[in-house]
Amino acid sequence: MPSYRLAALLIFLICFNSCGIVDAGEPAILTPEKKALVGIVNQRLETDWEAALKIWNLAEPGYREEQSAHLLSQMLSDANFEIEAKVAGIPTAFIASMKIGEGKPVLAFLAEFDALPGLSQTAVPYRQKREGSQYGHACGHHLFGVASTSAAISLAAYMKANKIPGTIKLYGCPAEEGGSAKAFMVREGLFDDCDAVLHWHPSSVNSAGDRSTLARLAAKFRFHGKAAHAAGAPEQGRSALDAVELMNHASQLLREHTPEGTRIHHVITSGGEAPNVVPEFAEVYYYIRHPESQIVKKLYQRLELCAQAGALATETKLEINYQGGIAEFSPTTPWHKSPCET
Ligand SMILES: [Zn+2]
Repeated sequence: MPSYRLAALLIFLICFNSCGIVDAGEPAILTPEKKALVGIVNQRLETDWEAALKIWNLAEPGYREEQSAHLLSQMLSDANFEIEAKVAGIPTAFIASMKIGEGKPVLAFLAEFDALPGLSQTAVPYRQKREGSQYGHACGHHLFGVASTSAAISLAAYMKANKIPGTIKLYGCPAEEGGSAKAFMVREGLFDDCDAVLHWHPSSVNSAGDRSTLARLAAKFRFHGKAAHAAGAPEQGRSALDAVELMNHASQLLREHTPEGTRIHHVITSGGEAPNVVPEFAEVYYYIRHPESQIVKKLYQRLELCAQAGALATETKLEINYQGGIAEFSPTTPWHKSPCET
């Protein structure tokens, strides 16, 4: 089978699998190859649901997804995939591979399984916090990891049964929610042997689109001031919280003068302990986004000026803890069209 046909099957499979976990119904018209793949996926539905619920309940945050990574690795290992654990020096990153025949082409799926802070939730369709955890799967990474894993296992089984050569890989990618683990994995050259890598994300519709994403830079702005009693000797203090507030005000004003599509958001992660103490330390955590990474870089420089302004006016010291950044997706239209072809 030519590699482009195999690639089309692979894309179809991951798109089908993401809806299969919600609804096992088949699309109306399918080639015999796709029909056979749907059959394999459907046999896995119970196992997949069970695994997804487990990962939902584990709700492990980025870079601490030990049990979720282990669960997915185990599913792949049980299906005779070779597992490389802790790749790129990341304890919860892994690669699973299955070589069939001569092993070419090399096609891969990405799997993610991290949860978000502050979104603890039981498995019910209304807000109900889960006791004992502050983390939750807000955007469906419990499905993401399992569906990709299941797609890799199903496609490998189909290729083996039909003697189609190739290598199927599954990349266990930690910390999608702001941790950018894939950037470190790329830097280690872990994707160098891949002919194609597929990615998907849970959503409210099942489709293959050629949308891009927003590029992002993240940084924590820390201000160091001088503590003093806020009533007894306020003139002795230099408020780190004031610096945060000034920086935030400056960034609100900055918004008006940014290119269309800019997103700036922040949370104050530390703002002092008591009202009667001038805070000697305060921290604000910012994301800045835009569809083009070149524009994000320029915007970030302007955001730093806002931080410097806050420090200057309050006589506090600024420390910037850069949290990393990611570029936007580059859509590949023919790839996105192929799963829609029957
Ligand atoms: Zn997500």
